[in-house]
Amino acid sequence: MADKVCSFCQGTGWVLEDSGRRAVAKRCQCYSEQQNKVLFEQANIPKRYRDCTLKNFEIHNPSHRDALKISKQFIKNYPIQDVGLLFIGPCGVGKTHLAVAICRELIENKNVPCFFYDFRELIKEIRNTYTPDSLLSESEVLTPIFQGEVLVLDELGAKRTSAWIEEMIFYIINQRYNHKKLTIFTSNYLDKEEEEDKRDSFYKKGEDSLVDRIGVRLRSRLYEMCKIVDIGGDDYRKIAKQASYRF
Ligand SMILES: [Zn+2]
Repeated sequence: MADKVCSFCQGTGWVLEDSGRRAVAKRCQCYSEQQNKVLFEQANIPKRYRDCTLKNFEIHNPSHRDALKISKQFIKNYPIQDVGLLFIGPCGVGKTHLAVAICRELIENKNVPCFFYDFRELIKEIRNTYTPDSLLSESEVLTPIFQGEVLVLDELGAKRTSAWIEEMIFYIINQRYNHKKLTIFTSNYLDKEEEEDKRDSFYKKGEDSLVDRIGVRLRSRLYEMCKIVDIGGDDYRKIAKQASYRF
């Protein structure tokens, strides 16, 4: 279905403005709205996260407040911002929510092409290109990953590493790093070499750490290219659900 034609420019994207002696063509307001819509569609944000904004991010503890503040600063600084973000924390604390909200703000306010990928999906899609009947080539899958001004790589480490995965992910991330493109990562895996803290109890005992999942080399690259944002606290979706059960 076609969109309603803009009444200011009749769909041309240009309006004439009187600048005294003669009329000057200017971009109509609908043009950037249309551009933003296209950018948002191209950003590949999963349906369940599409409504995530900075405004509807819930604050339940000081680490949520800090994470929100850092996210706002990141948006404000862009494009001068020179490091990406790595949101680390257990499931359900809002890491992906913030990553998506940052993309939305960058698209709407700064027309920045952003691109969202779930780590496991990415691995799967790259693998699929190796099958003989694949419709896409590896480079077709990787182009938006390399070219997106801001890339969100969600659930980093959610798939066990193999030498192949480690190599591929390092290659992707390193390419972005070399081209000074910002990447926002989220991960459920506690970074164990950091000082142990109370939040440790929220992670399952005996579970892998980030370094077990992605390897030492990639972890150290992440530290060079990202600010680490720890988000602690229990799963607030669970807390809300539990609080609604009355006994
Ligand atoms: Zn218009």
